[in-house]
Amino acid sequence: MAPATDDDLAALAALRAEVAACTLCELHVTRTRPVPGEGDPASDLMFVGEAPGYHEDQQGRPFVGQAGKLLEQLLASIGLTREQVFIANVLKSRPPNNRDPRPEEIAACQPYLWRQIDLIKPKVVCTLGNHATKLLTGDPAGITRVHGRPQATVISGHDLYLYPIFHPAAALYTPAMLTTLKADFLRLPALLAHAAPQGGAAASPVAHPEAADAPPAAAADAPPARPEQLGLF
Ligand code: URA
Repeated sequence: MAPATDDDLAALAALRAEVAACTLCELHVTRTRPVPGEGDPASDLMFVGEAPGYHEDQQGRPFVGQAGKLLEQLLASIGLTREQVFIANVLKSRPPNNRDPRPEEIAACQPYLWRQIDLIKPKVVCTLGNHATKLLTGDPAGITRVHGRPQATVISGHDLYLYPIFHPAAALYTPAMLTTLKADFLRLPALLAHAAPQGGAAASPVAHPEAADAPPAAAADAPPARPEQLGLF
């Protein structure tokens, strides 16, 4: 994880100010506070939810209600806190009565998310639920079909893995979904280690080169193995 540069931090602050003054869609009329996103600006791991709900709209912070508590528990299950990741949403303003985001709202807000990805440069973007997954994969396939499978992609010029999982709010009331969400979440550390092998040999899912039964080191110019080739997924 490379530290955020002063320029990146200034650009993220400018983005927050732009979001606060944004009138690109009608949601600015009904929102209480904009919710640009928060967390470690240099994190390798970013989460993208759907849109702020009631509590997020009141506080101007993402995932601070019941779904946020579950997200924090899931993070704790892999040894992370919310301060160590970056959490954002597809929409930066709350839709009235938590209705679904409209296509024109998603289109208006999308450049903010793409700029956040450009500045934070995460190795893994975990999309929470259908809206974030469809937007970032560019594929209409629903979350039930694609959850738990990393997809290598390029966003804002950066190579990264998208990792779709169920939305915590949906899992709160559906035990089977919660079980799947927990299992998918537990695969994140291996994906992160694979996506960022410079992070340290101990964290890598690939056997250490000095191990007696280690496979030969890959050629420097060979394409990185995909997680499924490593037997991770
Ligand atoms: N659900 C979301 O998608 N985002 C939040 O910030 C809170 C709940």
